[in-house]
Amino acid sequence: MKSRNEALFERARAAIPGGVNSPVRAYRGVGGTPPFLVRGAGSRVWDADGKAYIDYVGSWGPLIAGHAHRAVLEAVQAAARDGLSFGAPTEREVQLAELLKELVPTLELVRLVSSGTEATMTALRLARGYTGRSLVVKFEGCYHGHADSLLVKAGSGALTLGSPDSAGVPSEIASCTLVLPYNDADALKRAFERSGKAIAAIIVEPIAGNMNLVVPDRDFLETARRLCSEHGSVLIFDEVMTGFRVALGGAQARFGVRPDLTTLGKVIGGGMPVGALGGRREIMERLAPLGPVYQAGTLSGSPVAVAAGLATLEIVRAPGFFERVSAETLHLVQGLTAAARARGIVFCAQNVGAMFGMYFRSAPPASYGEVMQCDKSAFTRFFHEMLARGIYFAPSAYEAGFVSSAHTRADIEETLAAADAAFAALARG
Ligand code: PMP
Repeated sequence: MKSRNEALFERARAAIPGGVNSPVRAYRGVGGTPPFLVRGAGSRVWDADGKAYIDYVGSWGPLIAGHAHRAVLEAVQAAARDGLSFGAPTEREVQLAELLKELVPTLELVRLVSSGTEATMTALRLARGYTGRSLVVKFEGCYHGHADSLLVKAGSGALTLGSPDSAGVPSEIASCTLVLPYNDADALKRAFERSGKAIAAIIVEPIAGNMNLVVPDRDFLETARRLCSEHGSVLIFDEVMTGFRVALGGAQARFGVRPDLTTLGKVIGGGMPVGALGGRREIMERLAPLGPVYQAGTLSGSPVAVAAGLATLEIVRAPGFFERVSAETLHLVQGLTAAARARGIVFCAQNVGAMFGMYFRSAPPASYGEVMQCDKSAFTRFFHEMLARGIYFAPSAYEAGFVSSAHTRADIEETLAAADAAFAALARG
C-alpha cells in the first residue's frame, strides 16, 4: 500500500516538473519521498500520513516566530478583510518600509518586492545603472536567487543537484559575473587591481547560508567595503537569509560593516511573499519613478503579505527575543556536537543567532572548498535517521538550519535524544 505522501508525490510528478515548485524540495540530494506537509503549529509540522516533526526548516527561514503564530495570523486576516490587493499605495507598506529603516540603519530608502530573487536582481540592475558599469563580483557557493547573472557558481539548490550553474544562462551574461572564492580578501584585492574600474558591484552573503553555514572573517567584509569605496563600486549585502535571523540589525550589525545596498526577504514577510532592497538614498533615488532604472510589480507591497511581515517584525524586535532564540540554537548545536563525539562520529555544528550549520567534518568550513570536504554520505544517512525519528532538517548537506522562538527547551532535548540514536546508528555502520 502506498502512503498518502507517496500517492501525492506521484500525482505531483504527473502535473509539475519533478513534482515540486522549487527543486530542493524534491529530495534529490538525499533520496526518498518528500513528506507533503498539511499543517504547522509552533515548532512542529504534520505530513499527509499524520506524522509529526520538529521543524528546523521553517519554510527555509521566514518562520522565525514559528508556524501559524496567532499575532501573525490575526494581522493577515485583518488585512485580507480590507481587500487582497489594490495595486495602489497603502499605509501598511509605508509602515513596513519605516520599520525596516528604523531597524536597519543603512536603509535610507526601501523598495518592497515579492521575493528575494526580485530584490537581488533589482539591486544588481540598480548598481549597474548607478555606476554605468557591467561587471559584478560574486562568491563561489553564495546563492542570490535565480536571476541569470547570479546563477553562476551558486550554492544551495543548484549545488544539491550537482551543478552550481544553470543551462539557459547566455555566456554573454555569465561573462559579466566575476566569481571569486568566499573569504579570500587577497583574491578580491587582485580582482580590483585588474578590473576595479569596470566593477559595478560586489554582492555577498555577509554570512553564507547556501553552502551550509560559512562565517566570514571580518577582514573579508572590511576589505570588500574598502575596495568598493576606493573604486566607486556598490557593496551589496544580500541579507535575504541573515536579515532578522542572525541579529535584529542583520549581519551588518554583527560585523559593523555598512553596505551601500541591502537585500531582504524571508523573515520580513513572516511566511508571505515579501522581499525588499534598500540603502543609500543617492543610489535608491535612481530607481523609477525618480530615476532611469526600471523596476515594478503588480503585487509589490501586497497589503496581506506586508501585514504578516509587520506582525513578525514586531515579535522579533521585542527585548530579549534574539538572546533567547540564540541561546536555544546554541544549546542545539552544542548538544549535537557532544552527541556525535560520544559516538565517535566526525562532526561539528555552529550557530549564528537563530541559524545553524551541521558539518560531517572536524571543524567548521571557512570556504566552499572546505564545505565540499564534508562527508555527504554521512549527512544523508543522518538526515534519514532523524527524519524517521520525527526531526525535519533541510534535505541537503548545503543548507543552513533555522530555529524559531516557538522551539522550546523540551523540543531541543527531544531533538538531541533523536540525534544520539541517529549517531549511534551511524557508528554501527
Ligand atoms: N538570497 C539569499 C541569500 C537566499 O538565501 C535566497 C533564498 N534562499 C535568495 C536570495 C532568493 O530568495 P527567493 O527564494 O525568495 O527568491
